[in-house]
Amino acid sequence: MLHAGSKTRLKLRFWGVRGSIPCPEPENMLYGGNTSCVQLCFAGQDEYLILDSGSGIRPLGVYLEEEGIQKKGHIFITHAHWDHIQGFPFFKPIYDASNVVRIHMPEQESGDCKQVLTGQLTPTHFPVTADMLNAHIDYVTQSPGRQDYNGFSVSFMLANHPVATAIYKIESQGLTVIYAPDNELVPEHLAGNRDFRNQLIAFCRDADILIHDSNYTLEMYPNRRNWGHSAWEDATEMAAEAGVKNLFLTHHDPTATDSVLSDRAIQLSEYAHRFVSIQLAREGKDYLF
Ligand SMILES: [Zn+2]
Ligand SMILES: [Zn+2]
Repeated sequence: MLHAGSKTRLKLRFWGVRGSIPCPEPENMLYGGNTSCVQLCFAGQDEYLILDSGSGIRPLGVYLEEEGIQKKGHIFITHAHWDHIQGFPFFKPIYDASNVVRIHMPEQESGDCKQVLTGQLTPTHFPVTADMLNAHIDYVTQSPGRQDYNGFSVSFMLANHPVATAIYKIESQGLTVIYAPDNELVPEHLAGNRDFRNQLIAFCRDADILIHDSNYTLEMYPNRRNWGHSAWEDATEMAAEAGVKNLFLTHHDPTATDSVLSDRAIQLSEYAHRFVSIQLAREGKDYLF
């Protein structure tokens, strides 16, 4: 938790940086093996703010319970693919009666936030059912317009992804953070959708921080078209066009080992002059702004 008056306006920590499925093999431990989960701590904010509940939310929940200070908070879930919700039943604060958890997600074809999230808490899938969660839980089906909360605001646009998926924009402390872990950009040379790209560029215009899908390389992309993910080179190009200041590339493919990602991190230096910072998201590391 950051205190009001701190020179640091935001502490950002990745608790999960992988797409699809956790991959906790030794060759992935530098960048991390958990699926999508990000914690944003803005100065002076006494409620926790979490993006997605992939497997990384399990250790985050342990940390919050051990720290014992923040008993209230928000989880903004982009969409209900497994790698963004599979950690939810293991988030300790939902079992703590002194906790208030507000969970936000856009409407899905199969139902609203509550229906979709508690749908996995049935005896077929898991021994704990929704009525056994002791915390006070509010399930919020999020609408795209700007909503103001205690110390921050959130809006979203829909990503290019097979299901309704939010690209969240969070504003607080004079900083704009955009979170787009699952979003398909179609490269220009493959006749991409220019309207969507322009809309996204406008949404990301001059953002302080963009966290974007980088699941593929440009070489891999043509065989994975319409799977809902981007090549890191194209995500970088889009971010530079939008004037994004600090870019984090995330949702690493489970097959991208530390060795692959370390090589990619070197390649990123070619783009460094177009950003204040550009890096691959790494689990467990704090980034201060
Ligand atoms: Zn995903
Ligand atoms: Zn997805």
